[in-house]
Amino acid sequence: MSYQRPKGTNDILPGESEKWQFIEDTARLLFNDYQYYEIRTPSFEHYEVISRSVGDTTDIVSKEMYDFYDKGGRHITLRPEGTAPIVRAYVEHKLFGPEYSSPYKVFYMGPMFRYERPQKGRLRQFHQIGVEAFGSDNPATDVETMVMAMEFFKQLGISQLRLVINTLGDQETRENYRQALIEHFSAHEEQLSEDSQRRLHENPLRILDSKDKADKQFVATAPSILDYLSTAAYDHFTQVTTMLDALEVPYEIEPTMVRGLDYYTHTIFEIMNDNPQLGAQSTICAGGRYDQLVEELGGPATPGFGFAIGMERLLLVLANENVELPALHQLDAYVVNIGETTNVEALKVTQAIRSAGFSADRDVMNRKAKAQFKSADKKDARLVFTLGEDELKAGTINVKSMATGEQKQVALTTIYNDFTQIFDEMI
Ligand code: ATP
Ligand code: MG
Repeated sequence: MSYQRPKGTNDILPGESEKWQFIEDTARLLFNDYQYYEIRTPSFEHYEVISRSVGDTTDIVSKEMYDFYDKGGRHITLRPEGTAPIVRAYVEHKLFGPEYSSPYKVFYMGPMFRYERPQKGRLRQFHQIGVEAFGSDNPATDVETMVMAMEFFKQLGISQLRLVINTLGDQETRENYRQALIEHFSAHEEQLSEDSQRRLHENPLRILDSKDKADKQFVATAPSILDYLSTAAYDHFTQVTTMLDALEVPYEIEPTMVRGLDYYTHTIFEIMNDNPQLGAQSTICAGGRYDQLVEELGGPATPGFGFAIGMERLLLVLANENVELPALHQLDAYVVNIGETTNVEALKVTQAIRSAGFSADRDVMNRKAKAQFKSADKKDARLVFTLGEDELKAGTINVKSMATGEQKQVALTTIYNDFTQIFDEMI
């Protein structure tokens, strides 16, 4: 019997996890510059939190949920996305109260779960980095948040990016557009996929998001939502494009773009990388405005704007564009110890260096001296200490700076009492 990880999941091993840390650190620093602070919500939620917000007729809720009844009979689901849980927390903790800053801005990073057909850039447990801003209906919030996402990718060294935007308008817009879509698609009802025939009556907007080939041909000729915008929706969208122009940020408008979640209103956007290797999985960031969602989950009417970045897809893009992320690890000291009698002293020396606040490693495998020096080299140690039986007797240790080649004998007591002095002298 051999065990394997569940289908659609990954083990992130050392070597790879450093990249994750670097990306997460970059996000933390940038998001803090924009005054976003971290929120951590549970990995599972009451089913209703997700179904109410994401929408019953979406693929996420109708097909992709990891839901179950717990031992207390509660209907629970692993979270498929980050926004609904955060809105739940925002309402539950009354974060709209006067003691909190407005807009209230948070970021998150962590695993999401969707029962999908696994393929490149599409997993069952995947990871998102995302942000949410509550309380501002100013189009400047839409624009600065989209620009922050673009800036994040630029900081990581990704050059081939496309910002694609659209608007889903307000309720009035949606009702008018819904009628227009029903008229358009009804004319081809028989030729639509089974899913889309159902969507036609439940939620015709969802047909626009269909990945079915037959559906796509009718989506291409579908009416444009831009022709159905209410005055308020038109005004908001015009301000967004004006502000993007003012910042000289290039973008494209894609009038049939919708998102796979029902809660969006007004501005929606995706950031794509056009690498052919990613295929249909070219969207590395997606988000938009959700002005009704807080109310939907029982809070006061509060506008919101957010996005989520797909980590696994981002990593594929970085690999495809041959972006080298800086190494995170650095070893300050390696302690070569020769002969069994040095074992205890090598332990003491290594621990003393670590206690002084430096990174240190030593051989614990009884390797020959040559293999130990090789190890030190491989780990890129800045200082190499060598402790043999002669040194031990004399109460000294040899230290060599790998950068300069300089070496000397120092007293073990100096290591124990003032390691920083040795480090400063040698480096
Ligand atoms: P898609 O149309 O590719 O299924 P989506 O519209 O379902 O994407 P969102 O729910 O908007 O995606 O999630 C935001 C981002 O999270 C996506 O742009 C993508 O980068 C990433 N993402 C979504 N689902 C997955 C998944 N199953 N595996 C890996 N990344 C994912
Ligand atoms: Mg999806």
